[in-house]
Amino acid sequence: MSPAPTPVSYADFYRQSIDQPDAFWAEQAKLIDWFKPFERVCNYDNPPFARWFEGGQTNLCHNAVDRHVKERANQAALIAISTETGTEKTYTFNDLHREVQRMAASLKSLGVQKGDRVLIYMPMVADAAFAMLACARIGAIHCVVFGGFASGSLASRIDDATPKVIVSADAGSRGGKPTPYKHLLDEAIRLAKHKPDAVLLSDRQLAPMDLVAGRDHLWSELRQQHIDAQVPCEPMNSTDISYTIYTSGTTGKPKGVQRDTAGYTVALAASMQHIFGGRAGETFFATSDIGWVVGHSYIVYGPLIAGMATIMYEGLPTQGLDGQPDGGIWWSLVEKYKVTGMFSAPTAVRVLKKQDPALLKKYDLSSLRALYLAGEPLDAPTARWISEGLNVPIIDNYWQTETGWPLLTVANGVAPMASKFGSPGVPMYGYNVKLLHENTGEELTQPNEKGVVVLDGPTPPGFMQTIWKDDARFVNTYWKSIPGKLVYNTFDWGIRDEDGYYFILGRTDDVINVAGHRLGTREIEESISGHAAVAEVAVVGVADNLKGQVAMAFVVLKDARAVNDPAVSLQLEREIMKQVDGDLGAVARPARVRFVTALPKTRSGKLLRRVIQAVCEGRDAGDVTSMDDPGALQQIKDLMAS
Ligand code: AMP
Repeated sequence: MSPAPTPVSYADFYRQSIDQPDAFWAEQAKLIDWFKPFERVCNYDNPPFARWFEGGQTNLCHNAVDRHVKERANQAALIAISTETGTEKTYTFNDLHREVQRMAASLKSLGVQKGDRVLIYMPMVADAAFAMLACARIGAIHCVVFGGFASGSLASRIDDATPKVIVSADAGSRGGKPTPYKHLLDEAIRLAKHKPDAVLLSDRQLAPMDLVAGRDHLWSELRQQHIDAQVPCEPMNSTDISYTIYTSGTTGKPKGVQRDTAGYTVALAASMQHIFGGRAGETFFATSDIGWVVGHSYIVYGPLIAGMATIMYEGLPTQGLDGQPDGGIWWSLVEKYKVTGMFSAPTAVRVLKKQDPALLKKYDLSSLRALYLAGEPLDAPTARWISEGLNVPIIDNYWQTETGWPLLTVANGVAPMASKFGSPGVPMYGYNVKLLHENTGEELTQPNEKGVVVLDGPTPPGFMQTIWKDDARFVNTYWKSIPGKLVYNTFDWGIRDEDGYYFILGRTDDVINVAGHRLGTREIEESISGHAAVAEVAVVGVADNLKGQVAMAFVVLKDARAVNDPAVSLQLEREIMKQVDGDLGAVARPARVRFVTALPKTRSGKLLRRVIQAVCEGRDAGDVTSMDDPGALQQIKDLMAS
């Protein structure tokens, strides 16, 4: 291995990561503790499968918790705040160490062993973080499912993950209203073919729970039984699986994005330093949810690995701890906990934009060094508003569940770099980003050409290893979508300007982005098709000022007469929305369901979703000469105008 030159600029740092990846990542690997040193930095003998740090052993929980107990036992580690229940509790690294061991011992007592799956269906409470860390500790694979998902979505994930144990709670809460989970979970287990051996329940006393004898256990009881438990961290091989997390697929079947252990730990440690500029002893506040990748990487693991305190927040950005409206709650927390780095989504900022701007000046925000935003395109007015209000840099970062950490942004921790409004930034170290022509697959080398954003392998540490139990789907979906080339397809359009900054222009597939949540329009269509009155349906994403995009459904009914009866249409619209709520959860509910007698299609019968979308957004529908029935499009135009 040739010695790594000292980087002098981000460009050099980046070049080294691409030209000498082994030297580069061997250096980054020093940021974590190893039980056994690795023998090989990257094994890319079998593309596109990249195996990082082979021969080494480490543990994610050890790096997030145990190694900090020596130096910072009494420092805050996890700060759990719920404006829903008016609770605020700080766990030191010592406390966290104890709670995680109690949870680990409880899971073991329910039969969980290394390699077993544990599905976590939880609201944003500290117990959820204990469960994730406990799994990492004992080498169980956690699969966190977003608490807002309904029984149908949960059941399909149970069947895919086949968990030995499910960890859940009586309820979540939103806007002061409890959202009971237990009956959704019971229904999901009933629907699923696979049955877990046990269910471990956190009882928040928000909703009644019927316990199933022999299967359901209360965490409060097991915790008590294991109050002094000492459970060592399992030495994990570098490439052992740490977790899976689901992203919607274009075919509706959930894709379990699978991550390794060592690569992920190194990637997070490196990103906390180079991208988020986080230092041990400081506080990080990511407002996402543990059900999403941001929650995994930057609520739970990343800040803890860096020895920082992390805030876990349950609640709206506009409600105070006393349950009263308070548009300044987040800023009051920044002041109180001296938050240095904050991570949120543009959609949350757009909500805050409606609040009194004086709230931004009410608190001492001098600890804050930057606000990081990701998950959807950051529009310039939102970026400007919040940047002027906070007086700190607003750092857009583009990534995906699959990548695990930012792919495009600026790495101010390496060398300060200017941001450009509308651009997430430049390729991050380790990512060999390219733009390809959509039809020919040729690489686009000139500035400002629009192409598909792809990556050349090997993908960096922390990137998905594969799709859980489905290597073929991983290769075919992500790596073989461009004929003749083995490249990872992000399925996003992008352009690169003359300075090397990228701009993301939206998805190339049928995925839409509602308030930072990625949803497959086909999944929503499948759910709506399940309604007895529906003959055909098209769902498209339509630009929305607040949420970025919303889903809009156009439905052809089996009995066309209902189209002309406003009372019947209203009733059916409600029923269809309820159906989607039941199958997928309220996040996927269309903003409107409109009824038409035909859908715009090509002569070959292909649904013209992009044409429908253009009409809904008041744009020119482009060339529609291939359309089968122009009257179908006119109906949608009329509906949108009405
Ligand atoms: P998810 O895996 O659910 O986080 O969704 C990833 C997708 O969200 C990406 O493929 C993009 O389409 C979109 N996305 C994420 N971050 C950004 C960003 N900063 N700018 C534009 N789009 C983004």
